[in-house]
Amino acid sequence: MRGLILAIDGPAGSGKSSVARAVAERLGLVNLNTGATYRAVALVALRDEISLDDSASLACVGELVDLAADGAFYKGEPIPDDALRSPAVAAASSKVSAHPRLREVLVARQRLAAESASGGAVVEGRDIGTVVLPKADLKVFLSASPQERARRRAHQTGREGELDRIREAIDRRDRRDSEREASPLMPAHDAIVLDTTELSLEEAVSRVVELARERGATSGGKAPGIS
Ligand code: C5P
Repeated sequence: MRGLILAIDGPAGSGKSSVARAVAERLGLVNLNTGATYRAVALVALRDEISLDDSASLACVGELVDLAADGAFYKGEPIPDDALRSPAVAAASSKVSAHPRLREVLVARQRLAAESASGGAVVEGRDIGTVVLPKADLKVFLSASPQERARRRAHQTGREGELDRIREAIDRRDRRDSEREASPLMPAHDAIVLDTTELSLEEAVSRVVELARERGATSGGKAPGIS
């Protein structure tokens, strides 16, 4: 019996990462952040001066990327999280993620990571419910107003004075993610959309935990006997 699989999707700043991490901890599931795989490819491309338009080379880089609970790996080596978090890598990750060939490679790595999480997993990204794990036990799409998302991102990164610039960067990334042809950002038809604009982190986490419990989650993964 496989463990419970929760898919959490949403745009930048919707609270995805914080919610996914806390839900995974509360339910004893592995947390997989698929954005780290796109960021890893972007980081290597910037470092090795690979063009962000060179689909074939980017797909080759993707073959060398792995995902696990503690982050992304390149050629088997962990990539420090702070290297993946820079604004330049964030902007480049949304450009590389538009290449269908690269997406195909990374989606396969992400599925493998989810399937290897024997006790179940909380998998977060942009296309988890629609493409990566369409059979997930629970799909949640988190949203929040653009202003609130920019405020959270500014707070998270200690750049409170740069709210307008952050909001513009988020808008640009949203537009690219939602308008691309390959797996655009959108809720799956069977996803539960949760607007977190007015919710505290704890409220959002409690709501997702409650939904997961309705689908058989226990604090140690999936309840025995529920398939
Ligand atoms: O979630 P995070 O901000 O780390 O994602 C970085 C970028 O990776 C996103 O802007 C998006 O372009 C891409 N991404 C994606 N599909 C996913 C996860 C992330 O296209 N499942």
